[in-house]
Amino acid sequence: MLLCKKIKIEVSNQDAATLEFMQGKCRGLYNWWVMKLRGGERWKVYDAKKSLQESKQYDPELQYVYGKLLHEVFFRLDKAMEAFFRRLQAGEKIPGFPRFKPWHQFFTLCYPAMYLDKIKGNTIVLPTGAGGKWGPKRYPNIVARLSEMPPKHFREVAVSRDARGNYYCSFVYDEVEQDIEVDEHETRPLREESIIAVDLGIKTLATGVNDQGRFYHIGGFKGYRWYNKQLDKIRSKRDKCKKKSRRYIRLSKVYKRVSERKRNKQQDCLHKASHLIAHRLAERAVVIGDLSQRQMVIPKKEHETRKEQNKRRMRNRMVYNDWGLYSFVQMLEYKCLRFGKELYIISERDTTRMCSACKHEQNMPLWKRTYRCENENCSLVMDRDENSAVNIYQRFVARLGPHR
Ligand SMILES: [Zn+2]
Repeated sequence: MLLCKKIKIEVSNQDAATLEFMQGKCRGLYNWWVMKLRGGERWKVYDAKKSLQESKQYDPELQYVYGKLLHEVFFRLDKAMEAFFRRLQAGEKIPGFPRFKPWHQFFTLCYPAMYLDKIKGNTIVLPTGAGGKWGPKRYPNIVARLSEMPPKHFREVAVSRDARGNYYCSFVYDEVEQDIEVDEHETRPLREESIIAVDLGIKTLATGVNDQGRFYHIGGFKGYRWYNKQLDKIRSKRDKCKKKSRRYIRLSKVYKRVSERKRNKQQDCLHKASHLIAHRLAERAVVIGDLSQRQMVIPKKEHETRKEQNKRRMRNRMVYNDWGLYSFVQMLEYKCLRFGKELYIISERDTTRMCSACKHEQNMPLWKRTYRCENENCSLVMDRDENSAVNIYQRFVARLGPHR
């Protein structure tokens, strides 16, 4: 699950001025695009991003802002536009077109993690624009002192300011990705009679709900699309070569190496996720649905269109190779045993189709990510996987009866 740690930072007056300068320029760029969009301009995030060079010619001061921060402005606006279209489609009364960002509020600066490799002890270096082949720097890189230790692996860092003028770095990190260096003998105090019910899925590896109504989301391995693309590319290159030729053999080796790397990454991710559930969460009983009941593979139709064929292939590949849910369940079984938890596998028939509030059933094709109950008296709106997890939880509790 993605978590965020907000840490107060100390910066010199000069560095504070640099932050103010960069946020002002980022906001200016953002607002300029909002203005254009209000004027009816079509939004295409990558076309817009390409126009950044022109903007720099118009406002040469933009070059003193770190480039990645400017790029994030486009992605931020893209998210806002996406949310707007989603609300529009859902027929909401106020679809909420992206707004101008007011000048008195700090425009949050988002640094992707890979450009923040300079953390030493409690200082972090936040880069600024220009320098090197880009010409002289007007503002030196910012050196910020963190008041706490940041998480080990993080994805991005957002710099913000509160109303009192304090600056903060917010580290976004995935709990599953953190190194888990717990003492094997030290066990977290388990809450007696506590239960977590987990729905296992394709989009989200695991969605859990516990007896206190708290939800957990474990994302799982994200990179398989990228790996599959690489693998397909390598294979098609190889298949064009003469068999047993030197190039053929070399590409075969590369293929093997890349697919091994993919498998390792995925296994690692499953290990960490199962460890998280089995060891780090405080619930004593873990309940999951029985996977064997699921119709996950799409059968081949007789006259399928190209699109259907592609979809079937993608999906089946995902289930057979990439998903790894079966090995995930095995790991979970093993780890629950090891850490003294009880694992229950119960029937999960219709847990996706059924409304967790009123028990009404409706079809839920895979693309529907949100459960919207058709029952007028209920009209529950809930994340699809969360709804399913609640159903699994309720089914398990009902089976046990009120007193175990
Ligand atoms: Zn309902």
